[in-house]
Amino acid sequence: MTSESATNATAPIVQQDLFLGIDVGGTSVKLGLVDASGTVHAKNALATPSLGTPERVFAAAIGFADSELSSGSCKKANLAGIGLAVPGVLDAQEAVLREVVNLPGWQGKRLQEILSEVRDLPNAVVNDANSAAYAEHALRSLGNKSLALVTLGTGIGSGLVINGSPYGGDHGCAGELGHIAIRFGSNAVRCTCGKRGHLEAYAGSKGVVRQLHSLAETANNSDLRAALSTGDVTPRDIASRAQDNCDLCITVINQTAEYLGQAIGQMAQVIDPAVVLLGGAMTFGGKQSKVGQRFLETVHSTIVDTTLEQVGNNLKVEFASLGNDAGVIGAAMVAQQVIAS
Ligand SMILES: [Zn+2]
Repeated sequence: MTSESATNATAPIVQQDLFLGIDVGGTSVKLGLVDASGTVHAKNALATPSLGTPERVFAAAIGFADSELSSGSCKKANLAGIGLAVPGVLDAQEAVLREVVNLPGWQGKRLQEILSEVRDLPNAVVNDANSAAYAEHALRSLGNKSLALVTLGTGIGSGLVINGSPYGGDHGCAGELGHIAIRFGSNAVRCTCGKRGHLEAYAGSKGVVRQLHSLAETANNSDLRAALSTGDVTPRDIASRAQDNCDLCITVINQTAEYLGQAIGQMAQVIDPAVVLLGGAMTFGGKQSKVGQRFLETVHSTIVDTTLEQVGNNLKVEFASLGNDAGVIGAAMVAQQVIAS
């Protein structure tokens, strides 16, 4: 790696190792040629449904890399490895997806073998949440430290990097934060997984809207009840109303932050990571807004209130930085890590 390449993404690259990152989602496949420092030198996105099977997706991805390396912005660079990030429950030992939605034809396939058949290069397969977490970890130069990236939206998940390496667990389910129980007993709200009291039922986007609904009914707030009756109120709308001083919206965001803080606190008490990041679609405005900053502060203070001092007080809680490119960067860097080890 040269310092010019790390700071100037548009400069032509000469004889540098690049890694192809492939981040597969249900609607699009994101591709990137990434150097050892995590700088993206070329990227593209393709529609997943039109590509279909892993064989076709990988062939298209290699086609993109070859084109960039032969005549595009990465001319003369060397393709050193391929990293693949996939959603769902990944058996990391076998590189096989055991459970996945929206990717027909992917479950049960030996992904590493198919990648090798398409191009015989070192490769690695990683869960997409862990891939994004690994990219954020590399960005912060955390070395052998641990990090959790919590993604907030309809579902709540987390990517884990433990001691400097992505960690998926023995059954591909490590970091499934949405299914940590925060309430117990027969009155606890039922989760999408069928069990009761899970975080996702309270702090996933549907749970947040349901709680606002319940508060608006109790307070007999006709304005909010009318808005909620349309069924289109989103956490983004709730953040915007909170910005305009809607008390009930502020309350529901606070409550959500407390639920999250309780669950993240449990995870932090077990893993004792250096950093926890909040990302995904439901950050209530993120660090750019006062509402988002208060949300983050309440998550953090709840973690501090519910964990040992050494855990909560030493833990950094921040918003994620990399957004949409995180999966591609992380996949490429995991491939690099495999080659280096
Ligand atoms: Zn659940």
